[in-house]
Amino acid sequence: MPAAVPAVLAHAGLLGTFISTEHAGRGWDAVSFGWLCAELGQCSLSLLSIVTVHSMVMEAIRLSGTEQQRAEWLPVLAQGKKMGAFALTEPDFGSDATGIQTSLVECAEGYRVSGRKKWISYAARADVLLVFGKLEDGSAVACLLPTDAPGLRITPMKGLLGFRAAMLAEIEMNDCVIPAANLIGRKGAGINYVAAGALDLGRLAIAFGSLGAMEACVTDSVTYARQRKQFGQSLSKHQLIQQMLADMITSYKAAERLCVYAAELRTVGDPMAAVETATAKYFASTHAVTVANHAVQIHGAAGCSAAESRTERFYRDLKITELIEGSNQMQQIMIAQNGMGEFVQSALRRKRLLTDNS
Ligand SMILES: Cc1cc2nc3c(=O)[nH]c(=O)nc-3n(C[C@H](O)[C@H](O)[C@H](O)COP(=O)(O)OP(=O)(O)OC[C@H]3O[C@@H](n4cnc5c(N)ncnc54)[C@H](O)[C@@H]3O)c2cc1C
Repeated sequence: MPAAVPAVLAHAGLLGTFISTEHAGRGWDAVSFGWLCAELGQCSLSLLSIVTVHSMVMEAIRLSGTEQQRAEWLPVLAQGKKMGAFALTEPDFGSDATGIQTSLVECAEGYRVSGRKKWISYAARADVLLVFGKLEDGSAVACLLPTDAPGLRITPMKGLLGFRAAMLAEIEMNDCVIPAANLIGRKGAGINYVAAGALDLGRLAIAFGSLGAMEACVTDSVTYARQRKQFGQSLSKHQLIQQMLADMITSYKAAERLCVYAAELRTVGDPMAAVETATAKYFASTHAVTVANHAVQIHGAAGCSAAESRTERFYRDLKITELIEGSNQMQQIMIAQNGMGEFVQSALRRKRLLTDNS
């Protein structure tokens, strides 16, 4: 990722769109933020992921920071003067984030942070990390750790399936000192509130980003199928190709409705927004993987070459969207647990109506 790219986004005012104007953002609602993510995803999912993790750091400060922390950090992050990364995952703890072992030990200057983080997007370039760890009494906390802190070692990760330009890194923290003022949120709320709130926004970004990537795959496939001729006619005239295009278009349209619905609920602060966001992320990412698979199929060999199409990149990148911001299995668990209650309630309501009317 050329270093200038985030600077271009910052210059265009696209890094802090959902942050209030009071804190140097644009004050956009969740639907507009979502469509920005779709545009970025349509272009590059690595680029989208950088904006996503940077936004998640801001969201954590916005939701859980003190007034003073919001005033200090949000304007610099929203304007891209500093870039953030979200450091939750550890070598031994991914989905089960409550198990993380990074420690924060109180000291005269504040806290000493020690531990390891892995698979952290943009950590190879970021200025500040939102690190999740535990205090000596085991309570989970979040803290801001500048990347120039003594004792911090950042090792870029290479050879990834996708998100190759997302500047992933592995992080080793050895007694890195932070002031107490860098703790974000209440002690004990690090995972269940601070990380959860940020991940909720991250899921919306990935849902819309997958939607954007799907749009790119459909557009490229339609264009290619109309140009490429086999057996004397364009691919788009062959019904088996049309079948794939029909499935791709249908997936895109259904995912779009779910994404927009989730963003609308978020905009009005509806309590169902989080589960609808999980539903949108689960559906959009799963279907985007199938859409990219069809796109490569329609392009034939040209779909396997970075020189001839961008479908091979989408095919690799989209697989990652099924894993990040909570894997799709985690989304399924959340959807099932909430959905069961919802459907039990509606069955009871229907039964009561029938009893009352009989
Ligand atoms: C490109 C990329 C970028 C990333 N960026 C970041 C980042 O910026 N910050 C960050 O903190 N992390 C990041 N991650 C890490 C990502 O969040 C984790 O990979 C994800 O949370 C899954 O954790 P894991 O890989 O340890 O898999 P595990 O938790 O070990 O799970 C392995 C498999 O088992 C499934 N599984 C786990 N538990 C259950 C269960 N109870 N029931 C059913 N299935 C289950 C999972 O869904 C998964 O399919 C990134 C990862 C990648 C690949």
